[in-house]
Amino acid sequence: MAVTLPDLPYSKEALAPVISAKTLEFHHGKHHKTYVETTNKLIAGTDMENADLETIIKKSVGDQAKTGLFNNSAQVWNHTFFWNCMKPNGGGAPNGPIADKIKEVWGDYRKFAEELKNAGVTQFGSGWAWLVLDGRDCKITKTANADTPVAHNLKPLLTIDVWEHAYYLDYQNRRADFLAAVIEKLINWDFVNANFK
Ligand code: MN
Repeated sequence: MAVTLPDLPYSKEALAPVISAKTLEFHHGKHHKTYVETTNKLIAGTDMENADLETIIKKSVGDQAKTGLFNNSAQVWNHTFFWNCMKPNGGGAPNGPIADKIKEVWGDYRKFAEELKNAGVTQFGSGWAWLVLDGRDCKITKTANADTPVAHNLKPLLTIDVWEHAYYLDYQNRRADFLAAVIEKLINWDFVNANFK
């Protein structure tokens, strides 16, 4: 099988209380797993059977006959990336090259954090908040449903899932509180710096 479900890069309990073990159990073990299984069903026996995930995403985006494949493969990519964007005892102001870039673009970390949170809060319905590189520009964006910067030649540096399944068990409707907690307590800046290189 070309597409696989990676293990979480930490235990299911590791992100509590910001994200509970129960949420990770469903989010990784049910939602992410189903996107992987559906992607594999849709590529079986086609010319994309052995393609890598980014190729599948780029070849299916905008093709009405491949909407299901785009949605599922993009969700596989987004979730694998999202898990790596977090770690226990992460969050807060960054160090390293991304800290300098944030200072250059946003002036200070607080303004950056507010804008990232706002991108997630204002995404109407399901989607994702992102920090991306657009050429040499660093910007905050949001995407709807499964859409991903990977499909639009942008380089993702950081994401936060704002689908209700990401936070509803722990925060119910309080998406802003979920975003604030992830930003302040979980962001894996080492991973962001590695993507920024
Ligand atoms: Mn999700």
